[in-house]
Amino acid sequence: MRILFATSELYPLIKMGGLGDVSCNLPQALRKQGVDIRIVLPAYRSVMQNVKQYKTISTINVPDIAGDINILETTLPNSPANAEVTLYLVDAPAYFDRDGNVYSSAGGDDWNDNAIRFGLFCKAIVQMAIGAADIEWVPDIIHCNDWPTGLVPALLSFHKNRPATLFTIHNLAYQGVFSEESVKGLGLPNEFWKHEALEYYGNISFIKGGLVYSDYITTVSPTYAEEILLSEYAYGLEGLLQARSGQVSGILNGVNYDDWNPANDCLIKAPYDIDCIEKKYINKADLQSKFGLPLNKKTPILACIARLVEQKGINLIINALENILVEQDIQCVILGSGEEKYIAALENLRSRYPNNIAIYIGYDEILAHVIEAGADIYLMPSIFEPCGLNQMYSMRYGTVPIVHHTGGLADTIVNVDSDTLRARTATGYTFNDINDDSFLHAIKNSIELYRTSPEQWKQLMFSGMRKNFNWQVSSSTYNRLYQFCHDKKNQSWPLLSSDMHV
Ligand code: ADP
Repeated sequence: MRILFATSELYPLIKMGGLGDVSCNLPQALRKQGVDIRIVLPAYRSVMQNVKQYKTISTINVPDIAGDINILETTLPNSPANAEVTLYLVDAPAYFDRDGNVYSSAGGDDWNDNAIRFGLFCKAIVQMAIGAADIEWVPDIIHCNDWPTGLVPALLSFHKNRPATLFTIHNLAYQGVFSEESVKGLGLPNEFWKHEALEYYGNISFIKGGLVYSDYITTVSPTYAEEILLSEYAYGLEGLLQARSGQVSGILNGVNYDDWNPANDCLIKAPYDIDCIEKKYINKADLQSKFGLPLNKKTPILACIARLVEQKGINLIINALENILVEQDIQCVILGSGEEKYIAALENLRSRYPNNIAIYIGYDEILAHVIEAGADIYLMPSIFEPCGLNQMYSMRYGTVPIVHHTGGLADTIVNVDSDTLRARTATGYTFNDINDDSFLHAIKNSIELYRTSPEQWKQLMFSGMRKNFNWQVSSSTYNRLYQFCHDKKNQSWPLLSSDMHV
């Protein structure tokens, strides 16, 4: 079976969040199992600057889009020899050869032609999928990811000999909803303008293309797969997802321990492991000096690396710090980029507590490793979290996570209590109610254990460090699912009846 993995982000070429990591690591894990999987990505400017060699393998004409589009072929950089992945790049310079990031300009505003950019990306994938791109390798399965690829299953529904489709939801909060005016240039079929198709309150929803028309739907953790059937997590799509719940499941994302392993991490000052845990303190001192914080081995360092957006519970972190700093000597290091209001609040906190708070606004892969290695406690009070990666990275680095019990955080962290501490199964602190008091309570408990019971704290670190969330199990599950989608093609849809409310 040939699988084409369609994505808008791909580490190490272009990454905004977890989707970039998954798009690299899942195909690589499948290649190691001998699966014939390839990736397709838009040829963004920054990608072309980092791709060393490529060849143009096809020039295609995409219906309704002016000008030819080239399909380039290269390989995913940094792939191990037994996991080399072919990468196709959809090269449409008028749409992708720009400064800025995947979805927005350097100034942070969404590109106003995002509907056309990702619409043409989907249309180009469809040409490849139906063998109209003059490329010998034609896929049997298209694995689509999030709204930028949502039109693929919808457009393929018009083709009798289409490949099977799997659609993975990485974050349902982002749906790719566009006005009639913005999708005009795409020449979308009239059939899409029905609420049982892609119409969403007078607009077109790209993500509905994936949710309505794909053969199967996954999301990135078992708990999130249940949560998205509820209105508080589904952002208006709960009816549709309930209707498809027989074809929805959650597969936990994995961690690439070649990249995220303190024992051989070349990005940190002193690699360490359980048997030489004292070296973590060298990394702690390095973190303190890099961020201009007083060197103090005993002061607990709390940390957070995240997009500074509401979802990540940044407000809770700010409020908790305000409270704790009045009474306790702690340090906190935050790495992130995002909304101005959070940046301003964090800057304000730093100006009042320069010896305790350090922040770096921006995206920095190396600093992310330095922080994971040097910190003691990792803060992840996400309001919702489809999977989350940093809690898993943190465990491996012996940095105890404090998380809201939701989504993938609930699936990966075992809460500290007297039983789990005794049984040495605890790996972090979870809190159930998403409010300031619950989070603060969890932080205070963690600091108390850190200060008063160093041996128990060490056991807690070790339990996390021993956990293994590698991609092997999850990628095998995806592999079985590809076969299932292939066998069941055309049997599960169209599912929606016109009386359904979505
Ligand atoms: P999301 O995809 O919602 O942003 P995840 O936890 O799934 O959240 O993945 C986020 C990924 O992006 C992690 O690998 C995290 O380390 C990384 N990341 C987020 N912000 C930054 C940043 N400012 N600098 C470096 N890495 C970051």
